[in-house]
Amino acid sequence: MRLFSATLATETNTFSPLPTSLLAYQEAVFLRPGEHPGDAPRMCTAPLFVARRRGARDGFTLIEGSCFAASPAGTTNRRDYEFMRDEILGQLGAAMPVDGVLLGLHGAMVAHGYDDVEGDILERVRAIVGPDCVIGVELDPHCHMTVKRVRLADVIVCYKEFPHTDVVERAEDLVDLVLGMLRGRIKPVMSLYDCRQISSYPTTLPLMRAFVDRIKAMEGKDGVLSVSVAHCFPYADVPELGSRILVVMDNDKATGDAVATELGEELVSMRGKTVPNFLSMADAVTAALEVGDGPVVLAEPADNAGGGAPSDNTEILRHLVERGVTDAALGPIWDPVAVRLCFDAGLGATFPLRFGGKTAPTSGAPFDAMVDVVGLARDCWQSFGDAQVPLGDCAAVRVDGVDIVLIAKRTQALSLELFTNLGIDPRTRRLVVVKSTNHFMAAFGPIAKKVIYVATGAPLNRDYRKIPYTRVVRPIWPLDEVTAPALIL
Ligand SMILES: [Zn+2]
Repeated sequence: MRLFSATLATETNTFSPLPTSLLAYQEAVFLRPGEHPGDAPRMCTAPLFVARRRGARDGFTLIEGSCFAASPAGTTNRRDYEFMRDEILGQLGAAMPVDGVLLGLHGAMVAHGYDDVEGDILERVRAIVGPDCVIGVELDPHCHMTVKRVRLADVIVCYKEFPHTDVVERAEDLVDLVLGMLRGRIKPVMSLYDCRQISSYPTTLPLMRAFVDRIKAMEGKDGVLSVSVAHCFPYADVPELGSRILVVMDNDKATGDAVATELGEELVSMRGKTVPNFLSMADAVTAALEVGDGPVVLAEPADNAGGGAPSDNTEILRHLVERGVTDAALGPIWDPVAVRLCFDAGLGATFPLRFGGKTAPTSGAPFDAMVDVVGLARDCWQSFGDAQVPLGDCAAVRVDGVDIVLIAKRTQALSLELFTNLGIDPRTRRLVVVKSTNHFMAAFGPIAKKVIYVATGAPLNRDYRKIPYTRVVRPIWPLDEVTAPALIL
């Protein structure tokens, strides 16, 4: 038995001021066949990582293709997308005949000329391998679960947790399903329900926690092979944006349809109840200081690099310094130029630095201050579940009572290492500000005395009615009050 695996992934915020080119993939994940490290998956590469571990045990040969992944940002340029795609397709062609294909995609990638990159990849993969080859795909739940890709793949599995702590477990599920199908043990059929809504669904909040736990309990029983909640990725102007439920059933489409409809209707009934409360900056800081001892974690989802934001907005920092808040740490601010200047100044230096506030009007004004360079570290990374996420060279600067982590490779706050790499222990700080939507919760939730979500003027607006969509199929909640959720496949 021969399986082929590859990855081409990013999460595209079509409103982001940061275009995505080959360079962004080269800076993040750019691994040719055989180059994938064995210690952990890299971003969306878990299917290849898991398949490599399981090949000998489960009796198949894995043919490794290239793995390309970039940090979320704007639309990928056409030439670079086609270059990476065609490299993988060429490898697949050379590997034929194969029995199965395992793809680690994201699900919300957009390239110029391609609204549905994953659908395009699947169409071309299917054309090479033919109708009998089993194609399995792992997607991030922040995806656009288009009809095209559900038609073209045999099995699609999304991560269930947000924060995404189950990327490897879900890749194990995917490999199980693909092998089960190849050995004739199961005949997966997929049903897709469109909830006609845009929302966010952190699984650290009670309602979604219970929903996901119940879904997990359903799997493996009564023919239910897999259930995925495609949350949607709100910051993309593509027609099939929106939350959908995907059910993979064993050879029983009618029951799969019923399960998808029931769960979909339940998700519709949860509209508006799955998101945390957001406070204004002033109220959030006041509430944090009232707690007394720390650490209180303040999250700024609007400047989450993981959603394609630049992560260089300076509003919260300015507010903290103006209010004279001390014993605080904040990160990350993406500013490779400022990092370079800090290295040039040297550890222990005090010098005038301009940082942040660069990329777009939503970045706010640059921050000018006499800073103390309190930490420098080359080529850092932070962990996220089993994966390692690169931060590049990092610098910590102190402005009054606030320590700020500056990074060279743009990414969100995922683990305490963001701070500890530079000698800052967030567990001992009164206030810790993180730029992240909810992935920070995996590492910062357990150390936080309290978590507060803050609304700022950074680009990822949580009020989806204010996002200037022009191509999203309407009606959809909350842009429209009256919608028509339905089973669509
Ligand atoms: Zn995601």
